[in-house]
Amino acid sequence: MARSKKNKVLAAVITIGMGGAAFFYFNSPKKEIEVRHITPPRLEVANLGEKIICYRPMRRGPPVLDVNHVGKKYIANNYGHAESGVSLAPGAAEYVIELLQDEAGSELTEQSEITIVGAGIIGLLTALELVNKGYKNIKIIAEKFDGLSSHNAGGLISPLRLHDNCTKLQKILNKIGPEAYRFFVKVAKGQHPIIKAGVSFVPIYFETRQESGLEPFVGVVMEPAKDVILDFGNATKRQMVVYDDGIFVDSALLMQSLKTIFGWESYF
Ligand SMILES: Cc1cc2nc3c(=O)[nH]c(=O)nc-3n(C[C@H](O)[C@H](O)[C@H](O)COP(=O)(O)OP(=O)(O)OC[C@H]3O[C@@H](n4cnc5c(N)ncnc54)[C@H](O)[C@@H]3O)c2cc1C
Repeated sequence: MARSKKNKVLAAVITIGMGGAAFFYFNSPKKEIEVRHITPPRLEVANLGEKIICYRPMRRGPPVLDVNHVGKKYIANNYGHAESGVSLAPGAAEYVIELLQDEAGSELTEQSEITIVGAGIIGLLTALELVNKGYKNIKIIAEKFDGLSSHNAGGLISPLRLHDNCTKLQKILNKIGPEAYRFFVKVAKGQHPIIKAGVSFVPIYFETRQESGLEPFVGVVMEPAKDVILDFGNATKRQMVVYDDGIFVDSALLMQSLKTIFGWESYF
């Protein structure tokens, strides 16, 4: 069947050979934009209220990921993740433990006493990673164990871009972010050996690819976004972009499953 002119777009291919540049033009079929039907949220007055449970933390400075000594004690810092703690937690835990192993060398054994200060997602995933690596003598201490930022986070996984010109740390975060994404994919697919709940795939919609903040993950761990038209069924349609492999962490559920594995509850 002949393609209508309307459904064609002009594309150009440039080949550069010995004799210079040659231009070829051809017509390719224009892709139809997928239409998705979405039920809009009910925003009637009866469904609206105000109850502030917590605020999303913000921090001027970058996260702190390092190891230092006080006498014979090694102190590994893994804090200050602010609005990105869920997105970074598994990768940051792995990174800091590797720093500690490098720094302590043979002084760190499976029987070494390791105390984790903090029972948020950073503390608990660090404990999990230590257990996975065979460390046996782990204690978690904390001022609070419930009602933390880690229980209240919206939990969308996205890369962290630093505002200041901290290129060394940015390079580290560019590895930690995708590592964390891969960890959560395992949980979402039911392939994690221990954590079985709290993570799912969700389509995430944005006005543009640029504003999504997800582009640094594309081609590394995520698929490119697609153009879609959202049809809200109330005569409103909107063209947007969607990342179908977005990850949503139900933080409360994830924290609950982290708390109960290995009988960690007894530490608290
Ligand atoms: C509404 C909201 C939405 C969010 N959305 C996202 C999101 O979409 N994506 C994302 O990646 N992140 C998000 N976050 C951020 C994320 O929740 C945090 O970055 C993360 O939970 C930090 O984890 P944490 O373990 O460092 O801290 P916390 O969960 O705050 O835990 C800190 C722990 O340290 C203990 N502690 C602190 N000081 C002391 C002390 N002096 N002595 C003993 N114990 C101490 C506390 O008692 C607690 O146990 C959101 C947060 C909120 C609130």
